Amino acid sequence: MDAKRLLNPVGGGGEAADQNLPLSAHGDAKALFENFLESAPIGIALLDLQFRFVLVNRCLADWTGVSLEDPALRPLQETWGGLVREWLPELNEVVRSGEPLLNQERRLEPPGKITRDVLASFHPVRDKHGNISNIGMFVNDITPRKQVEQALAESERKLRLITAATSEAIIAYDMQGDVVYANPAVERLTGYSNVELQKRRFINWIYPDDQARMLGFWEKLFKGEGFVGEEYRVLTKKGEVKWALSSWVPLYDESGHQIGVQGIERDITKRKELEQALVRSENRFRRLVEANVIGVLSGEGELITFANDSFLHMLGYTREDFNVRKLELSDVSSPECLDTEHNRWDGLLTKGVCPPFEKEFQHKDGSRVPALCGAALIDRASRSWVCFVLDLNDRKDAERRLRDMAEELARSNRDLQDFAYIASHDLKEPLRMVSSFVRLIAQRYHGKLDSDADDFIGYALDGARRMNRLIDDLLIYARVDRGQLKRERVSLNQILKRVMMDLGNLIDESTAKITFGDLPAVTGDEVQLGQLFQNLLTNAIKFKGDAAPIIDIRARNVGEEWIISVQDNGIGINKEFAERVFLPFRRVENHQTYRGTGMGLAICRKIVERHGGEIWVDSEPGEGSMFYFSLAGAESVGGI
Ligand code: ADP
Repeated sequence: MDAKRLLNPVGGGGEAADQNLPLSAHGDAKALFENFLESAPIGIALLDLQFRFVLVNRCLADWTGVSLEDPALRPLQETWGGLVREWLPELNEVVRSGEPLLNQERRLEPPGKITRDVLASFHPVRDKHGNISNIGMFVNDITPRKQVEQALAESERKLRLITAATSEAIIAYDMQGDVVYANPAVERLTGYSNVELQKRRFINWIYPDDQARMLGFWEKLFKGEGFVGEEYRVLTKKGEVKWALSSWVPLYDESGHQIGVQGIERDITKRKELEQALVRSENRFRRLVEANVIGVLSGEGELITFANDSFLHMLGYTREDFNVRKLELSDVSSPECLDTEHNRWDGLLTKGVCPPFEKEFQHKDGSRVPALCGAALIDRASRSWVCFVLDLNDRKDAERRLRDMAEELARSNRDLQDFAYIASHDLKEPLRMVSSFVRLIAQRYHGKLDSDADDFIGYALDGARRMNRLIDDLLIYARVDRGQLKRERVSLNQILKRVMMDLGNLIDESTAKITFGDLPAVTGDEVQLGQLFQNLLTNAIKFKGDAAPIIDIRARNVGEEWIISVQDNGIGINKEFAERVFLPFRRVENHQTYRGTGMGLAICRKIVERHGGEIWVDSEPGEGSMFYFSLAGAESVGGI
C-alpha cells in the first residue's frame, strides 16, 4: 500500500481533495505535505460526518489494521469493531460544539493488533462556508510512557510497602526541621505518633547524655554532611531507654539544592543488652583472672597462649619468659604426669570438661609443684581450652604438719595412757598396804583410844576405799585404749544378760525392773561392751528418784548403724551438763550425795568411740534419762 493510495480520498476522485488543499500546497509542496502526513509517527485520519474514514495515514493504518482498499465508507465504529464505540461521544461532541477535543486518553485495542495507550485529539474541519464538513483525528501512541508510569507506580507502591513493613525507622525532615515522612517503625522506636513527630525534632528523643555528640552530627547533616552507623540512646515517650544505630544523608532536589535530610534508625537494644551482658560476664572472668587468687591459663592444643601472673609466679616464670618462650603444656608438667595427661586431654575433647584433678607441675628450676587443676573446652575445632590451677604446696605442707602433729599427739597420748596405767597399777600395791594396816589398826584399837581417834581411823578407811575405787576406774579407763581391740561377733543380748547377773544384788536391793528388746549381734570387744552396759545400768539404778528404778533397753537400726538406748526413770540431768558428764572426773554438783568417781561415763565414751560409735544423753531433771550409743555394722537382730 503506497502513500498516495492511503491519502487518496477514500472512494472519491483526486479532484475533490485537490479543491480543498490550499494554494501553496499545490505541486511539490503538496506532494511533500502528503509524504509528511504519510510518514508522520502519529496516527492521522480524516473522517466524514458519518464517522467514516476519508483519509488514514500509514501509521494509523498500521496500528489499527484499517485498509483503505476496502470500501472505505465503512463507519469508524464498524472498522474498529466495538472497541472504538466509546469514541463516538467525543466525535459527536466535536460535531455538536464545533470545538476541538484534545488529548483524550484512550486505549486502542484493534483485533489482531497490539493494544496501545493513546492520546487522541479531535478537530472539526470546516468547508469554505464555515460549516463542519469533516473531523480530523490525531492519535499519539503513549504506550511506552504509560508502561514507565505503571512501572514507577508499582515500584513506588512496593517501596511504600517495604518502608511501612521494615523494622528500621525511616524518617525525613525538611530544612526547617519538620518531619516530612516517617514510617511506622519510627513510632515503634520512639513511641511518638506521626502527628506528634511533626512537632518533634530528631534531637528531642535522644537520651540527654548522648545529645551533645549527636547534635554535632545533626548540625553537619544540615550543611550537607551525612553520617553512618552512629550508636546512641533513644529516650522514648514513655521514658524507656533504647539503643539505636543511626545513619543519615542529606536530600537534594534536581538542581542540587539541599531540601532536607533523611535517616534510618535501627533498634539495636537487644544487641546492646547482649553486648553488655557479654561485657559483664567477660569482666567477671577477667576479674577472676586478674585477681590472681588462682592460676588461670588458656591455650590451643598443646600451646599455652595465656597465663595469668599467679600461674607464672607459681612456676617461677616472668612475663618476659612467657612472651619470649612459647610454653607448651609439656614444658610445665612433670614428666611423670605426661602419660595420664593424654587421657585427660582426650576426656576434655570428648566431654568438654575435665573435672578437678591433682597433678604435679614442673617449676622453672626443675622442682615439682603439686596443684589442683580443672579445665573446660572453649572450642572443639581450634582445640582451645581454659584451665584453673590451684597451688597445693601450702596445703600439702599443712597436711604434712597436721600428720606430724597427729602422730605426735598419738604418741604423747600413748605415753600418757602408759603413765596412767603404770601409775595406777603401781599405786595399787602401796595402797593395798596402807588399807590393810589401817584396817588392822581399826580392828585392834577401835574403842580403845578416844572417840576422835575412832573418827580419824574411820576417815582413813573411807579415804583408802575411795582411792582404791578411783585407781580401779583409772585402770579400766587406761585399759580401754591399750592393746588391740578384740573384734568378734558378739551378741548384745547375751552380754546384757551376763551383766544383769553380775549386778544381781544391786538390782535386787534396789528392786529395779529391767526390760529389754531384741538386741543385735555386733562386731566388738565383749569385755568392753559388758563394761559399757554395766556402767550405764549402775548409773540408772544409782541415780534413781523416789520410785524404784524402771530401766528399758532397746535397739534400733539406722542405715549402717545400730542405735542402742538405755532409758531410766531416775533424777535426770540438766541440759547444761549433758556434754560434760562424759568427761573424766566430771560429776553434776547437785548429785554429790551419790557416791562415785566421775569416771563411769568417761569409760563408756572411750569404749563406744573405740568401736567407731558415739554416745550422748537426752534428759530433763526429774524426767529420767535416755542414754544412746551407736555401734557400726548393722546386722540381724537376735545375734549369735
Ligand atoms: P559417777 O557415776 O561415778 O558420778 P559417771 O561418769 O558415771 O560418774 O557419771 C557422771 C555424772 O553423770 C554422775 O555424777 C551423775 O551426775 C550423772 N549421771 C550419770 N548417769 C546418770 C543417770 N542415769 N541419771 C542421772 N544422772 C546421771
